[in-house]
Amino acid sequence: MSAEQRAHIEALLRAGLSNLEIHRRTGAARTTVARHRRRLGLPGYHTTPDSPNCRHGHPFPLNLGSSENGHLICLECRRRRQREQAARAYVPAQPDVAAIERTVAGDPPARLTPRERHAAIHRLDRWGLSAAVIAERVRCSKRTVHRARAAA
Ligand SMILES: [Zn+2]
Repeated sequence: MSAEQRAHIEALLRAGLSNLEIHRRTGAARTTVARHRRRLGLPGYHTTPDSPNCRHGHPFPLNLGSSENGHLICLECRRRRQREQAARAYVPAQPDVAAIERTVAGDPPARLTPRERHAAIHRLDRWGLSAAVIAERVRCSKRTVHRARAAA
């Protein structure tokens, strides 16, 4: 380990970060970080409400909150976790092809998503129909037709 790596780890330790977070930022093993912590005489890392930040470096008390169970948690960590979970769970909604076909044929279903409506308008638009005719077929306003054209 080079001198500047050692200095970097020391600086992060003195900034109040956990062994885990320093390991993530520098790539040094957690046992190595723990050895430097002992050498510097710093106490082991435990997150308390009085800590300057959470173990991932988010400042307290700005990010200090409590869970539904009453446990103290870092709100920024929870936000990131929720964002990651939402990104993993996201499935883009696919437009219903049958609904678009029916709409183009002039028999739109009772419920049509904006994406399906726009797809139907674009199809009719390619046939060169006027906005008024398209609006009647899709059962939307002329304004919606103009907006769909502008969005294309
Ligand atoms: Zn955090």
